Amino acid sequence: MMKNHKDKKIRKPSQITLDLTDRCQLQCVTCSKWHTSAADVIEKELTTDEWKCVLLNIRDWLGEGASIWFSGGEPFLREDIFELASYAKSLGLHAASMTNGYSIRHLAERIVDSDIDSISISLNAVNDPEIHNASRGRKDAFEKTMEAILSLKKIREEKGGRLNISIATIIFPDNLEEIIPLARFAKENGLTGIMFQIIDDVDAFHSFYEHKCYDTEHYRMPDALKDQYQKMSVRGGEIISQLMELKKEGYVIYNTFEQLEAMRTFLKDPDRIVRKIPCDVADTGMGIDPYGEVRLCFNMSPVGNVKDEKMEEIWKGSNACSCRAATKNCKMYCRLLNCNFDKSHKSLVHRAVHKGIRILKGYRM
Ligand code: SF4
Ligand code: SF4
Repeated sequence: MMKNHKDKKIRKPSQITLDLTDRCQLQCVTCSKWHTSAADVIEKELTTDEWKCVLLNIRDWLGEGASIWFSGGEPFLREDIFELASYAKSLGLHAASMTNGYSIRHLAERIVDSDIDSISISLNAVNDPEIHNASRGRKDAFEKTMEAILSLKKIREEKGGRLNISIATIIFPDNLEEIIPLARFAKENGLTGIMFQIIDDVDAFHSFYEHKCYDTEHYRMPDALKDQYQKMSVRGGEIISQLMELKKEGYVIYNTFEQLEAMRTFLKDPDRIVRKIPCDVADTGMGIDPYGEVRLCFNMSPVGNVKDEKMEEIWKGSNACSCRAATKNCKMYCRLLNCNFDKSHKSLVHRAVHKGIRILKGYRM
């Protein structure tokens, strides 16, 4: 039974993320998920059949044509990702996936042939491998990720496949001079596009297994993060202005102009973003963690579990309403992330998939 009487005012979510696992082979400086041991979580993850129930539930609720995102952790550590993508396709859903690209080279042909419509690969540098490697905590990360990108692209071309291949990049002080080369690399190599995100609080990107929640109303930015923003305040703003120019020229940079402008403002005065930009993640999207817990905001408590309730009930339930109310007083800075900007990469990819096109000149995520 539905728990909320204000159903009429609640829109359906436009973004559904399935975090298949907390496990990951990398040790990124921008994330703390890898602090959780694989042995602790592997047996607790939803099974293939449980994920299939989630997919069926999504289709029954949102209808054919809805898009889902596989994320994590590293989602390709789940060998059933291909089976889940096929099942999603059989239900009329569109499937996209994020990946760190570290161990997918041997899967490249399978990925191109699979029912995954789009893949977004994390890459933080293109000219200086050491910058990427340092940010990802592995000495061979650049080599393996680059191999994966180029293999996917080559196989897609050979087979005439339709896989959208894009890059996702975090902007931080050490890679500022890599940002424009990365945008050029994406265009010159015929990738679908590139999406940028400014570094955020590393502790906020925690494993779901930790059940960590923030007191979002009283959040204080850590000094180390403040220092990083300070280091980027001038040059970072210049680089973002250059990205805006490239986007006007037709480069597929998934971030909207609105978001790029917000990033530029943020680097000058982070607190202004909290005052001026509301966060609507809880009104537009939901994420299901590896254990079935559903969150509307990744830094707040779960609002239900797919093992106990249908997703629509969770979405309209009293916990979800409380979560939405809490987001209105949130003082965190992750409102700058892509999930809070309409028409950013997820929406663009979604639209491209629906139109059956590859966005070659300046795309999404
Ligand atoms: S950011 Fe992604 S790739 Fe890096 S450790 Fe976290 S989950 Fe793994
Ligand atoms: S800014 Fe948005 S995503 Fe970040 S903690 Fe607040 S409500 Fe959640």
